[in-house]
Amino acid sequence: MLGLMMNTPLLISNIAEHGAKFHGNREIVSVTADNPLHRYTYRECIGRAKQLANALHGMGAEQGDRIATLAWNDHRHLEAYYGISGAGFVCHTINPRLFPEQLVFIINHAEDRWIFTDVMFVPLLEAIADKIPNVEGFVVMTDKAHMPETKLNNIVCYEELIASESQEYDWPVLDERTASALCYTSGTTGDPKGVMYDHRSTILHAYAAVAPDVMNLSSHDVVLPVVPLFHVNAWGIPYSTFMTGAKIVFPGPKMGDGETLCNLLDAEDVTLALGVPTVWLALLQYCEAAGKRLDKLQRTVIGGAAVPRSMIEAFRDKHGVDVRQGWGMTETSPLGVANSLKAGIADMTPDERLDLATKAGRGLFGCELRIVDDKGNELPWDGEAYGPLQVRGPWICSDYYKLEGASGAHTDDGWFDTGDVATIDPEGYMAITDRTKDVIKSGGEWISSIELENTIMGHPAVAEAAVIGVAHLKWTERPLLIVVKAEGQDVTADELLAFFEGKVAKWWIPTDVEFVTELPHTATGKIKKIELRKQFADYQLTG
Ligand code: ADP
Repeated sequence: MLGLMMNTPLLISNIAEHGAKFHGNREIVSVTADNPLHRYTYRECIGRAKQLANALHGMGAEQGDRIATLAWNDHRHLEAYYGISGAGFVCHTINPRLFPEQLVFIINHAEDRWIFTDVMFVPLLEAIADKIPNVEGFVVMTDKAHMPETKLNNIVCYEELIASESQEYDWPVLDERTASALCYTSGTTGDPKGVMYDHRSTILHAYAAVAPDVMNLSSHDVVLPVVPLFHVNAWGIPYSTFMTGAKIVFPGPKMGDGETLCNLLDAEDVTLALGVPTVWLALLQYCEAAGKRLDKLQRTVIGGAAVPRSMIEAFRDKHGVDVRQGWGMTETSPLGVANSLKAGIADMTPDERLDLATKAGRGLFGCELRIVDDKGNELPWDGEAYGPLQVRGPWICSDYYKLEGASGAHTDDGWFDTGDVATIDPEGYMAITDRTKDVIKSGGEWISSIELENTIMGHPAVAEAAVIGVAHLKWTERPLLIVVKAEGQDVTADELLAFFEGKVAKWWIPTDVEFVTELPHTATGKIKKIELRKQFADYQLTG
């Protein structure tokens, strides 16, 4: 017997309408390339998204067509999110920091019909324009006064495109499984792979994200997503804000600028900021140098890479900011776990709390977790056993776009193999020990590069650090520590190695240390270990 509840589809346009109706006056503040501080409301945003939807129909877009964006975080990009997906097209967010060959690959693979771009990425598109013949034209997300001179064909000004369109638009009633957005993984090995979100997965994910033990979002919040809109839908923030009525502050092209971030956090009364650890490193360094305290910020959600203990400590002790770590990936929409304290284990010492906060987090309803051994048998949740992490749930990808099972990323019993290695403790807190491809294998045992990096980040002379495995005759691989020194600090390799003593197993302590002036980063601010491995491929260890 079926229940007697309405079967209304879960659609992104419902979130748009909800936000505009119930929180219509809530502000969206953006730093953009053509305006240092643009302000308007949810209502205006959705009005313009509807103008865009009308314009897209006028351009001949058909349901399911891929319409790409190549842009930083600002209000126009958000309008594209709603205008494109809400109207039944697929919003393909492209990471502008990919190599040109990867851009060409994903634009052609996605068969994008139009690309909406920021002015600053026009030269990038000019350089590849002859290799992406399916793209019919480019919409530059600016006003007439700021339109660039360009060799690109069929170029349209965004503000002019939507200006003549009506704000009256009836969102189509779609099947909730209709594709809504497309995001490619960064393709560190092989070609990038496309993850195709749908309306249903997006809405279920947004419901999960706003929960108290996850992001704890409400209409009282002011949210600064420093995580890019091109990186897994900025962790769902466009949707979870409109679902709750939180004010949004977009940093535009100023993502990595500690001073801008600090000023925005303060001036706009930001309560929640989200980003990868590298971004917060820049902010914390700026605050330290400028003698500033983040008085208004209440909490940060940090994920995308392991969060060093020293970062959690600095936020907590110097700024009174609670750090909530999260884990996820493009394939998981991205929220898989979130780290908040559970009832019953709250009576911990500050140090024990810190230890717990360095874990990725505990499972949230909607994303099942398991760790397995080499043969696929489930491993115990004892906080010690580690193995490949697998996940399952309604916002986890069931396949990659146009790969039809060829990736081998799914198990026969329907779980997604994340490519991460993890432990899970008896309370359900998961900790990533490594990515499978970053694992260091020494004498047949695994060494966690993440734990070594987290430990050394606690040394005051270390600004940033990475640990990679380097070939070793006797042990197969040994860890090499690569360090960027903090400004004005000096430290020797021996001093750094001594810092590990008593904190990690003796045989984990890196064999050598190399000092560099900077580490290579991916577009989303993560350390590019693949590049480091190439750079140090012929490294001769001393031990
Ligand atoms: P990319 O492949 O470009 O890094 P993703 O953003 O999908 O793309 O990255 C997901 C990966 O980031 C995860 O598989 C994991 O290795 C890493 N990651 C994410 N969150 C954490 C975390 N809290 N701790 C450690 N690693 C993390």
